[in-house]
Amino acid sequence: MEVDKVRFDEKNMPTEEGWSPSTRISPVTDYLRNEQKTEDELNRSVILTSLDKVLNQGRSRSFWPMTCGLACCAIEMMAAGGARFDLARFGYEVFRPSPRHSDLLIIAGTITKKMAPLLKRVYEEMPEPKYVIAMGNCAVSGGPFAGSYSVVNGGDLFLPVDVYLPGCPPRPEALFDACLKLKDRVNKPEIADVER
Ligand code: SF4
Repeated sequence: MEVDKVRFDEKNMPTEEGWSPSTRISPVTDYLRNEQKTEDELNRSVILTSLDKVLNQGRSRSFWPMTCGLACCAIEMMAAGGARFDLARFGYEVFRPSPRHSDLLIIAGTITKKMAPLLKRVYEEMPEPKYVIAMGNCAVSGGPFAGSYSVVNGGDLFLPVDVYLPGCPPRPEALFDACLKLKDRVNKPEIADVER
């Protein structure tokens, strides 16, 4: 009887904000509130993702470029790694002397027909996943030597280029931009697949 009295007491009737906190006459509301609280708590403290996404986050922030320069564009690539431009700010400065340590091949310079098979071999020796940036007009399309008897008209004729960086030569800042574009592609492989 006492409970009934409380239940129908006017003070304990629902207000616009919900049921009065002084009574437990609506266990459903209580349950929903608790469930909402738990959900908020979980949203704050638990992150659900796939292993691929976590690995790609790491890969995209720590490319290890191959130490490999073909012509004048390589000077700009070296400058990018130096103190003035400081590629280390982005975490991409660990140039490796061995293809087996590298995951990024920057084609920096003119690709001669004599050099192309060696460049392909370097690429094939790199472990997966691996990426390619074509740096400069020569690497994109042959540049000023396009059509020459001794030059290949672009790196994409024999390598899967991920990012094209035009310019003759491109500035170190442009190489940073290319690396950041590659970072986006690594983080969103589904978009990269559609573009290909
Ligand atoms: S794009 Fe220009 S700067 Fe770069 S390798 Fe070719 S000629 Fe040299």
